[in-house]
Amino acid sequence: MFVTRDIESCRRAIRQAQADGRRVGVVPTMGALHEGHLSLIRTCHESCEYSAVTIFVNPTQFGPGEDLAKYPERFEADADLCTSRGVNLLFAPTVETMYPGGERTTIHVSGLTDGLCGPHRPRHFDGVATVVAKLFHILPADAAFFGEKDYQQLAVIRAMVQDLNIPTEIVGCPIVREADGLAMSSRNAHLSPETRKQATSLSRALFRAVDEIDAGEHDARAIAAFIRSEIEQAGDCEIDYIEVVDATTLEVLSIVDRPARICLAVRIGGVRLIDNVAVGTSSRLGCGS
Ligand code: AMP
Repeated sequence: MFVTRDIESCRRAIRQAQADGRRVGVVPTMGALHEGHLSLIRTCHESCEYSAVTIFVNPTQFGPGEDLAKYPERFEADADLCTSRGVNLLFAPTVETMYPGGERTTIHVSGLTDGLCGPHRPRHFDGVATVVAKLFHILPADAAFFGEKDYQQLAVIRAMVQDLNIPTEIVGCPIVREADGLAMSSRNAHLSPETRKQATSLSRALFRAVDEIDAGEHDARAIAAFIRSEIEQAGDCEIDYIEVVDATTLEVLSIVDRPARICLAVRIGGVRLIDNVAVGTSSRLGCGS
């Protein structure tokens, strides 16, 4: 595996692989790799002959008071995982390499960023869209793999790529969960044994809501209220939002009458967790791309 922190050598390696006739896939991450990230790498291998992973904890997508300073960092272990999974290129730039001009130029995707996490994390999606666009210029890959765990992020990136005519195919990958249902996340490491247990209330409530919908409940407000009560019963927490949205436009729905997502963000013990589930399709397992 070729490991580099340098933009030019990274771009050269990608172009060489493409010149050799290999389809190139990239998996952008912030490191502290877990099974969720590894599933993206596996999906990348399925359609690409050359796989690149990026590890960059992007400061511009963290707001003041967010967890940038304590974001877990495990570069050596991450590099070993990438090697063992057959990754060809690992790009891990420094902040100075990525932002020599500071935040002079940014990308804002409007509309899709107005709701859900948008109001709770001002400028977060500008940071995400900008760094992903930069990565696509540094690694001009044929395809890029993102998790549905960050459902709004995936929608924002799809829109950005379409609007800016970036010729990289965006592939959404299903959420990978722990055995007890908790969506895998680098942030789960910050949970105490008690809050880790409490955190299972999120996916449990979402899955019960799917059952309610399957049983005939289509009123989005009633569904959100049901989820709220399930989560609040599990213990102290701060609910940022629970919303039922159109699966493509992220428009807030009052009736589940089309493919939709129930998305939520909840703080438990100071750790902000997000999760979502597909509804308005035939089954809860219909959460693939
Ligand atoms: P992060 O390192 O948290 O920025 O995540 C990098 C990529 O991995 C993003 O596309 C995430 O959506 C994806 N990802 C993170 N957790 C999961 C998960 N549990 N299942 C699937 N994809 C995930």
